[in-house]
Amino acid sequence: MGHTPGMRRRRSDPPLVAAARRGGVTDRRILAALAAVPRERFVPPLHRAEADLDRPIPITEGQTTSQPSLIALMLSALELTGEEKVLEIGTGYGYQAALLAHLAAEVHTIERFPRLASRARENLAACGLDRVHVAVGDGTRGLPEHAPFDAVVIAAAAAEVPPVLAEQVVEGGRVVAPVGSTGHQDVVVYAVRDGQLVPVRHLTGARFVPLVPEDDAED
Ligand code: SAH
Repeated sequence: MGHTPGMRRRRSDPPLVAAARRGGVTDRRILAALAAVPRERFVPPLHRAEADLDRPIPITEGQTTSQPSLIALMLSALELTGEEKVLEIGTGYGYQAALLAHLAAEVHTIERFPRLASRARENLAACGLDRVHVAVGDGTRGLPEHAPFDAVVIAAAAAEVPPVLAEQVVEGGRVVAPVGSTGHQDVVVYAVRDGQLVPVRHLTGARFVPLVPEDDAED
């Protein structure tokens, strides 16, 4: 097999950087963010020993922190330069938000469980990343008070991207989201064109926890 630059593995790569490279991520800013964020701070203490493994890890409230190489692939599809204002829907323990803090100028994230949002705030603050804005609420409504965003990443699965996001993302901005049924989703990259969300490409298959609108919540 020939050498593919993106697949090249450096001896000094931290495990999650190596995993992201294997998953096809070549963007140096993403790889640097993965190296900079200690994932063990963003998983429950019981699971700390697994933090360097490229696997999803259960958090509280029956939720899951996603597989790091998948997060890296989704974030690379946002093509961030560092100037952007970004929204993440589905904060969990804050790992992806921490990566975003290294990749964008302004990061907003919204989580429906107040206890997860406060845990994420603590985890982010412990890493000196307290400029991330963590909101509690229903992300299917976006975050109109801080719109417009240059990019949005959704970390939970739905049958479709909440249409209201088209109004909260700038023209030419991107949305990356897992779309499909409960058991399997396609991670799709969208661009906003003439005020509409237009699918641009299919990134990969995935299995995310569901995006639950407020009306459906039973807690
Ligand atoms: N981004 C996280 C992944 C968290 S899992 C990480 O870095 O690992 C997805 C999260 O989405 C869960 O915490 C879940 O509670 C949250 N979620 C589900 N539906 C939501 C909604 N309508 N609004 C906001 N958050 C939601």
